[in-house]
Amino acid sequence: GVFADPVALHAGLRPEAEVCRDLVSGRSWTYRQFDQDIQRAVAVLQSEGIGAGDRVAVLARNSVSQVIVQQAVMRLGAIFVPLNWRLSPPELARLLADCTPRLLYTDDPLPAMPPGCRAVSLDALAKNLDSQTPAPRPPTPSGLDPCIILYTSGTSGVPKGVLLTRQFLMATAVNFSVLGEVDTGDTFLCDSPMFHVIGIVTQIWPPLLRGGRFLVSPGFEAEKTNERLGDARLGITHYFCVPQMAEALRHAPNFAPQHWTRLKALFTGGAPNPPAHIRWWLDQGVLMVDGYGMTETGTTLGMPLSRPLLRDKAGAVGLAGPLTSVRLVDPADRDVPDGTPGELLVRGPNVTPGYWNRPEERTRCFTDDGWIRTGDIGRRDGDGFIAIVDRCKDMFISGGENVSPVEVEAALIEHPGVREVAVIGMADPQWGEVGCAFVVEAPGWTLDPEILTQHCQASLARYKIPKVFHVVEALPRTGSGKVQKHLLRRQATTAPA
Ligand code: ATP
Ligand code: MG
Repeated sequence: GVFADPVALHAGLRPEAEVCRDLVSGRSWTYRQFDQDIQRAVAVLQSEGIGAGDRVAVLARNSVSQVIVQQAVMRLGAIFVPLNWRLSPPELARLLADCTPRLLYTDDPLPAMPPGCRAVSLDALAKNLDSQTPAPRPPTPSGLDPCIILYTSGTSGVPKGVLLTRQFLMATAVNFSVLGEVDTGDTFLCDSPMFHVIGIVTQIWPPLLRGGRFLVSPGFEAEKTNERLGDARLGITHYFCVPQMAEALRHAPNFAPQHWTRLKALFTGGAPNPPAHIRWWLDQGVLMVDGYGMTETGTTLGMPLSRPLLRDKAGAVGLAGPLTSVRLVDPADRDVPDGTPGELLVRGPNVTPGYWNRPEERTRCFTDDGWIRTGDIGRRDGDGFIAIVDRCKDMFISGGENVSPVEVEAALIEHPGVREVAVIGMADPQWGEVGCAFVVEAPGWTLDPEILTQHCQASLARYKIPKVFHVVEALPRTGSGKVQKHLLRRQATTAPA
């Protein structure tokens, strides 16, 4: 259970190669400098009394300093906890009470700190690092102990603290590097928030494993990201975002993908990406590569960087990475045949050992032989490619037939007047449940139920077509851009149709 530290390794293999850059200050680190700064941060943490198993939380925008603290905490065998700065004070208080950190690095002090926890300025730490003497390297901690607590997105309810181990991080790095063709010297742009799995794991660990580089921006802004992707001097080869961010990029005034000459692929994950959008990107000359993962499983499945396959199989999330096994099963845990929907189960070193403070969740979510139940329904085609049908909890039954809201949304988004859409099932006296669609109009459009129903008739069976349409200004979303359907469900039952 001992796993190598890729920063320490590359500090030996390629000390003078650039590992990361802060896109605001322009400051850059070689592997040697980065490794030294991490050892300086180890010295600071030791002087604060941090040792194995202690939690150190961060509540801050993306920065290289945040990654340095993360690496230093891990080297000490302590546990790093990145918190979502979009949460309200009571929500944050609940998470802090759950993970009980000894230190909280933040530049916006919280109104209420839990007992035993001290707030420290991340900026001040960064400024003081230069004057520190690097600590001697601590012994490498076990790869099987938790090194990060990462809270889930809270799409379906209250966020759960998922335990990540060094083994998890390395397995995701291998899975993504193979699926995403990451080479030594490749460059990632990191502007997804570092409090979600894409930001803290997938956009950093593959380049670290491969001896590549990552460029850190404090956060996503569509116009800046467009600029950076088009800047040949930055040389960005890999960009990973959620579908919602990809949408923002193409609607921004400076969208010019013909200049993204160094980019190998635009990777998406975390939420359904409609096939019509994927084909649109391919038409622009950008390889849009969808993949599947979750906080509990890191990078799990991914599409190949192949234009014909991406077009042919738009809507699929691909094949399992080399360190991962997947199954699709019926409710009695029997494997389903190709073409039949079943719950996706995942096993491998990329899977979490469990949840912080929630032993009962582990019992609920794992089979006796160690497969995690993802709560997502998948379908495998004859070539082994898996498509995500929907979350189990979001599927509904209308007139005895199963309906996947994701399929209905994919049909509705093909209407040019639909900018965003979310569909939920709501109780209905006649059909048991019927679809209810929340639609955000594209600029200049006025939609009504009749237009949308007619549009759906071309591609959807009658029972799948929503019976109720609400035109709304915006959809409720999590910090990572996922639609919070539990909030829509509440709205659907309180608002008259
Ligand atoms: P919570 O567990 O708190 O409800 P969450 O499940 O959204 O939130 P994450 O771990 O960030 O938290 O997201 C994982 C989920 O995202 C998966 O279970 C799946 O439902 C969805 N997902 C991930 N990738 C894709 C994809 N490519 N297509 C469709 N859905 C995806
Ligand atoms: Mg989840």
